[in-house]
Amino acid sequence: MQTLTVKIRIFPTQPNILRKLGKEYMRVVNQLTEQAEQLRAFPKITTKDVESILPSAVCNQAIRDAKSVYRKIKKVGTRPVLKKPVYFVNNQNYTVSENTIAFPIVVHGKTKKMAFHAITSSREMELVRKAKLGLMRIGEKSGKWYAQISLEVPTSETSHQGIMGIDLGLKAPAVAMTSTGKTRFFGNGRHNKYIRRKYQERRRKLGKLKKLSAIRKLGNKEQRWMKDQNHKISRQIVNTAIQEGVSIIKLERLANIRKTARTSRKNAKNLHSWTFYQLQQLISYKANLVGIKVMEVNSSYTSQSCPDCGAKNKAIDRWYECSCGFKAHRDRVGAINIMRQPVTDGNSLSA
Ligand SMILES: [Zn+2]
Repeated sequence: MQTLTVKIRIFPTQPNILRKLGKEYMRVVNQLTEQAEQLRAFPKITTKDVESILPSAVCNQAIRDAKSVYRKIKKVGTRPVLKKPVYFVNNQNYTVSENTIAFPIVVHGKTKKMAFHAITSSREMELVRKAKLGLMRIGEKSGKWYAQISLEVPTSETSHQGIMGIDLGLKAPAVAMTSTGKTRFFGNGRHNKYIRRKYQERRRKLGKLKKLSAIRKLGNKEQRWMKDQNHKISRQIVNTAIQEGVSIIKLERLANIRKTARTSRKNAKNLHSWTFYQLQQLISYKANLVGIKVMEVNSSYTSQSCPDCGAKNKAIDRWYECSCGFKAHRDRVGAINIMRQPVTDGNSLSA
């Protein structure tokens, strides 16, 4: 069995109710562990012994949580304190469908199972159907609400499936090749370069006027723009991986990207730095949420070795040709080689 987490966005119409319940959950767990610490033992209690506005099923979970937090005191030496509102529901008490997630809350002093609008992908739905469901954690992040469900999936469901190799670069930001034979290009390197040149020109003008804070603001804006691009590319990559039944994504080890991102005199240095590390982290994070493993592979010569015969050739104008007859776009060669590269132990990237 393999444990993984799916994170599903939910859309509460009255987030204040969830916020209040989350704070209450946190309060109950902290209060119970504090009491247990004073008693030097966790008391035998049921939901009836706990004064709280939580639905009894959730209160029960809070007691269980408090017990395990109490056990940690012995290991850590101090009492861990929950600092963020959170709301846990056990698998007996929630239901997931394509567009709703239902779980108990309390409204006007009464417990009811409320269905919240949710966006669940077909891949997530498939996992939810096949897996043994665990705890569901409801939480808020940057004003958005999520249900994080832990699942146990038989290992056979995730192994012996597709592999995707990703080649990262400046002209083609990301090229993916899957073991099902599909090649896809993500992002638009030429457009990125154009946008970044615009930023550079504006920076130069501001520099002449010595407007330092405006330069800094512009720099932050450019960073946000790049991060947004990385978010989009990583989302598209993971969506393609899901569609193609990919269970392992292979990425090149980062030191190599810097080496292969050669600078030419025509391009200023800062046009040639792209936040590949951030892109890798985002791919890794999004892939892990849907149970896809991300591995780092050695990518020396991946853009030069012929995928058919292994001979080393250099691409001319992005076009790769080998004397054995193999020919392809240079970045496709990189992606094929990365996909076929063996994975050595300890190279799993998990966000
Ligand atoms: Zn060849």
